[in-house]
Amino acid sequence: MSPEIDHHAREIVSRIVLKGIPWDANSSFCRGAAEAPNHIRKAFHSPSANYFSESGLDFKDHSLLEDRGDLHLSGQEGAQALVEQEVAGILNEGRRPLLLGGDHALTYPALRAMGTHYAGLTVIHFDAHPDLYDELDGNRFSHACPFARAMESGRVARLIQVGIRATTRHQRVQAQRFGVEMHEMRHRPWRLPTIFSGPIYISLDLDVLDPAFAPGVSHFEPGGLTTRELIDILQGLKGRVVGADIVEFNPRQDASGRTAMVAAKLLKEMATLMIQAEGPGGEGAGRKPTGS
Ligand code: MN
Ligand code: MN
Repeated sequence: MSPEIDHHAREIVSRIVLKGIPWDANSSFCRGAAEAPNHIRKAFHSPSANYFSESGLDFKDHSLLEDRGDLHLSGQEGAQALVEQEVAGILNEGRRPLLLGGDHALTYPALRAMGTHYAGLTVIHFDAHPDLYDELDGNRFSHACPFARAMESGRVARLIQVGIRATTRHQRVQAQRFGVEMHEMRHRPWRLPTIFSGPIYISLDLDVLDPAFAPGVSHFEPGGLTTRELIDILQGLKGRVVGADIVEFNPRQDASGRTAMVAAKLLKEMATLMIQAEGPGGEGAGRKPTGS
């Protein structure tokens, strides 16, 4: 094997790190999202399906996806810092984090780390809700606030929201203030940007899907995307996806287990996007690792 090929092979090995973030302390309506990671893993490993993404990557292969289990969160104090440190550590290894929530509050500390590591970060945020509240019930770190905090931090260059159908006057003002590109359900069909030159982070709140397709969420918001529509959007993206999360799956609302299978399917498609979206061999790994 030539040194060149060997170098490429090393880059490919376990580029994606899967990490569960069992954290729902900032959920405003009901708890349960903290129990999601293991339910998603169980669905991912279920013999009722296989490990292939639609385009043919086999995620049984641990060299594509390394599951490092759940982040240990001993108490809520310091949880944000632990999430940020965890993501920064994965990035400093030259790898790409795929986080399994937990509620959407984890995305702010994740983006602090992402935006510190990668300049010019674009965030593509799928959600029924804009999550741009300045505060909710007195909590500035509520799962309804992460994108307000992220935009204020200056670590996100561009925020594209997709699937919005439950916003408020306050959040519209916030969206304008932060220059958010909001694609609302009522405005379909969309002309979504699909080709990106800079680094991308994808944040996927499962309530972007219609509750008919994904009932296992804390906030049922009718009128959402079908699972197929969401997969089509993901498969159409071209760019360097350097990190992602899948959040807001609530197993307590998922009596049939259907949403766990949806989450596991989306995990495979998101991981495929993180490996393939830039095209074969196109690593262009952004900043060099800065730590051990
Ligand atoms: Mn959300
Ligand atoms: Mn939501």
